[in-house]
Amino acid sequence: MNTAGCSAIQASHAAPENSCDVLIIGGGPGGSTTAAFLAQKGWRVTLLEKEHHPRFHIGESLLPLNMPLLERLGVRDEVARIGLLKLAAEFNCEGYEPATYYFANAMRKTYPSAYEVRRSEFDNLLLRNSQKKGAQVHEGVKVTNVESRPGQTSLISAVDEKGQPHLWGARVVVDASGRDTFFANRQKMKQRNPQHNSAAIFGHFEGAVRRLGKDEGNISVYWFKHGWYWMIPLRDGAMSVGAVCWPYYLKSRKKSVDEFFMDTLTLNPLVAERLKNARLMAPAMATGNFSYQADRMSGDGWLIVGDAFAFIDPVFSSGVFLAMNSAELAAGAIDDALCTGDLSAKSLGRHEKKIRRGLKTFSWFIYRVTTPALRKMLMSPHNVFRVEEAILSLLSADIFGKTPIRFPLFVFKIVYYIASIISWRESLVSYRQRHRAWHSKLDFVWKSDAARQEERTG
Ligand SMILES: Cc1cc2nc3c(=O)[nH]c(=O)nc-3n(C[C@H](O)[C@H](O)[C@H](O)COP(=O)(O)OP(=O)(O)OC[C@H]3O[C@@H](n4cnc5c(N)ncnc54)[C@H](O)[C@@H]3O)c2cc1C
Repeated sequence: MNTAGCSAIQASHAAPENSCDVLIIGGGPGGSTTAAFLAQKGWRVTLLEKEHHPRFHIGESLLPLNMPLLERLGVRDEVARIGLLKLAAEFNCEGYEPATYYFANAMRKTYPSAYEVRRSEFDNLLLRNSQKKGAQVHEGVKVTNVESRPGQTSLISAVDEKGQPHLWGARVVVDASGRDTFFANRQKMKQRNPQHNSAAIFGHFEGAVRRLGKDEGNISVYWFKHGWYWMIPLRDGAMSVGAVCWPYYLKSRKKSVDEFFMDTLTLNPLVAERLKNARLMAPAMATGNFSYQADRMSGDGWLIVGDAFAFIDPVFSSGVFLAMNSAELAAGAIDDALCTGDLSAKSLGRHEKKIRRGLKTFSWFIYRVTTPALRKMLMSPHNVFRVEEAILSLLSADIFGKTPIRFPLFVFKIVYYIASIISWRESLVSYRQRHRAWHSKLDFVWKSDAARQEERTG
């Protein structure tokens, strides 16, 4: 970036009180990362967050490619202090030995670990980092409307907790509102993915059986007949446990959410065993978990990052990385756009193809994760044609760089299709189950993350 040139542009836009170069809606990992990188460049950044940090958020497992990003943000050591070191992802299925994928064996050996984090601490740390870098952060302020005015600053309306209205002017607006999908909803451009129609029910436990030694921080994934479970150990001894299920199963709930959750966790004996002496620490929560993508990632004077643009099933723990990665790319695009004065959709969304490609790479695996063929292949890893290393690179989120995973992943897909044909009976049953889910409406689901506090049942 030409700093001198940019300073001149910034100075010429010195503005009244509630105006800024970039206004960000939402202070999750996506919003805070965008804010930190742009404030660091000297732009006047305002971030509005409707809640107060630290606040609860689900999604505690980070991926190895988060680590260099955290370094670039200057917070890696702080994250190490709140996190539990994660060296592998472990898959479990009855009748098989656990398959433990150590990140150190990925194609690129540079990123052998990640962390499990409490999101209240992690998100708070990222938000405070953006403040330290110069971003103006206002918590308890909810954005209610954005008026885009081509050729002029956008007008952003917000309301605080006392009901007081506020108005900001900004040259660029970033939607980082997560699954609230502020822009995509308002512009009616949110496309639900009917092929991956699931929902999650989750909670934190104390007293769950943990893995020992270097494996203590590994995420465990289990399958059961209505979906899959995660177990994510946290540094303070708690265990985050969740079940991602097909809607028809959740619709069958006749009991309280807590009871239904506890019953669900008994459906796999391996999970039940680890939770035998465990206690749910707070009421269970649920969220509609279906995948979606917005039609566009940018417009004149605005763009979208993180979950506000797209959400895919969390089985590979990709969400936080995808949000922060898209935020870093967005910050680069915004910086250049502000420097050149070209705030067009094309200029702000120059990285859209890259983001979509990454989502597509993950999605192929994620949409098939409950199929018998993929399950068997994940449970019996082989490194022929470096397939196992490539899967590890995928599990590490090393899919955007120059790592040569394309060919091995192609081989994996061919083997998958052959395996599906060989075990066609099982595949057909699984296909019918998924197909039923595609046509199952999720409207019943116990609202979204945004309403999770109300989700709690006494
Ligand atoms: C069941 C489940 C399990 C998951 N597990 C994992 C996991 O293990 N690992 C992982 O990496 N990811 C996981 N994820 C995904 C991960 O949580 C998200 O991808 C990640 O939080 C996205 O970050 P974000 O900044 O885009 O959105 P968010 O983190 O949701 O942040 C959005 C912020 O915007 C604020 N906001 C919304 N609307 C407004 C408004 N109008 N005005 C002001 N503020 C607003 C919200 O309060 C929120 O703080 C999981 C998701 C689910 C649903």
